Amino acid sequence: MSFREHAGVVGAEQLQRSLERGRLAHAYLVVGPRGAGKEALARTLAKAVNCREAAADSCDRCESCRRVELGTHPDVHWIRPESKTRRIQIEQMREFTRTVSLAAQYGGVKVGVVVDADCMTEEAANAFLKTLEEPPGQTVILLLTAQSQRLLPTIVSRCVRVRLGERDGAVSPHRAKVGELMREFRSEGAYRVVGPYRLLRELTGWLGQVREQVERDVAAQMPHWEYEELDAKTRERMREQLEARVEGEYRSARDEVWEQMVAWFGDVLLWANGAERDLLAMPEFAEVTKAVADRIGAEQAEANLDALEQVREAWQRNVPESLALEVGLLKLVV
Ligand SMILES: [Zn+2]
Repeated sequence: MSFREHAGVVGAEQLQRSLERGRLAHAYLVVGPRGAGKEALARTLAKAVNCREAAADSCDRCESCRRVELGTHPDVHWIRPESKTRRIQIEQMREFTRTVSLAAQYGGVKVGVVVDADCMTEEAANAFLKTLEEPPGQTVILLLTAQSQRLLPTIVSRCVRVRLGERDGAVSPHRAKVGELMREFRSEGAYRVVGPYRLLRELTGWLGQVREQVERDVAAQMPHWEYEELDAKTRERMREQLEARVEGEYRSARDEVWEQMVAWFGDVLLWANGAERDLLAMPEFAEVTKAVADRIGAEQAEANLDALEQVREAWQRNVPESLALEVGLLKLVV
């Protein structure tokens, strides 16, 4: 495939524009649901940066393009979870970072693709972080994931986010809500007085609404569970099923809310580290992002991301939601 065939796909166009302007970032986080075409896009970019015929695209005919397609290009490296454990292990990652740091054999741009990046073990993620912190020259790294909220915020914040499978102009309600909350941080005074508590209250309220919506949606899809003619045992089993489904769907919705929080706080870190506007995940909030980044600096921006990560980890350990939120959000400094 070439970029021509990805035409109209928001994330693909973003990548091609950067390539045309000669402004590719060192690392991209390509986020999209299964089947959105993340691997195809990674392959197209790997071809386009090395193609000998086409400019800022793949010709799909030259030797370089064909080798990328066949998976035999010496400068294009893929890493994916082991089939047994479904994890990307530290040994795999060490080999990957080693090969990615070698000079390009064909003299073009090296490309490293991490498929299902959320499956990295903690050790693998930490090993990979070193490569992101000191990226090798003439290399583009692509992390592909359907669940970016499972990645370490320190990894997410060092990548430019590319969203696949989203219609142009469609903004998730969670993203709009997070933006609305963040706008209040423009001035320091406003934050000092009511900031952390207000953020806690607003987010708690928002998550409550998200849960109610999930409950309504799930109940609408399972209309028969209350039928009187069912025996008590069956009713009980169906009630349990319903609850489990609500809980599962609510948790993934909550992960999405958190993903937006991490994206915005990641933008603050990007800005504090000197990134430009077009590298931000949420450019529509650039004004407040800049104000906060200038005020708190990179070190605090990183500490904020750590605090958000702790909330997510606490939720995974089934710490009560409100407790985890309170402990985490009250650590934020903006
Ligand atoms: Zn070519």
